[in-house]
Amino acid sequence: MARDIDSKCRKCRRAGEKLFLKGDRCSTPKCAFIRRSYAPGAHGSKISRNSSEYGMQLSVKQKIKRTYGILEKQFRGHFEEIKGKKGIVGDLLLERLETRLDNVVYRMGLGNSRSQARQLVNHGWIKVNGRKTDIPSYKVKTGDSISINPNKKSKTYLKSIDLVLKNKKDFPGWISFNAADYSGKISRMPEREEAGINADAQIVVEYYSR
Ligand code: SF4
Repeated sequence: MARDIDSKCRKCRRAGEKLFLKGDRCSTPKCAFIRRSYAPGAHGSKISRNSSEYGMQLSVKQKIKRTYGILEKQFRGHFEEIKGKKGIVGDLLLERLETRLDNVVYRMGLGNSRSQARQLVNHGWIKVNGRKTDIPSYKVKTGDSISINPNKKSKTYLKSIDLVLKNKKDFPGWISFNAADYSGKISRMPEREEAGINADAQIVVEYYSR
């Protein structure tokens, strides 16, 4: 029965791989993908995937959107933002997604999932260059400092961060982190292979160019 699998885990099973949407639980044997790696639904294990080019492009787009937890309108908006820029559009799209403030907060370990990181940003817990910034899609730049709003630094929250940081194995090389005050500095823009997702975003470009 798929009833006990919540919507985040269903996204992983639909994508055919772990997207790490539920924080600590994702690294435990309780992960629904480990228990049932076939697609959700009564016939999920029997249905063959749509293998057409369109179907493949669509599933890559869905996987990237689900990983970063954003809806079509905003995803498309990011695509439009980078479309005219110099460089490989797919790589620029991944860079734009990685440099969203909510993703940076997650990658620094200040939240145990991207959705928790987004809530922290939405609720004014995060400062950029000393100024409260509550827009999750805010694009960080090289040299930006990210810190926790001192008004929000509760003992319970800091304890929960310590736990996340203790188990963190994928700290990105493009953010220098200061464990003493839980702050970070963007030392450079992320490279394609440093993105928190294994997907060829160029396929999304082909999808939008249809
Ligand atoms: Fe659920 Fe996380 Fe496992 Fe995905 S990786 S199935 S979100 S527990």
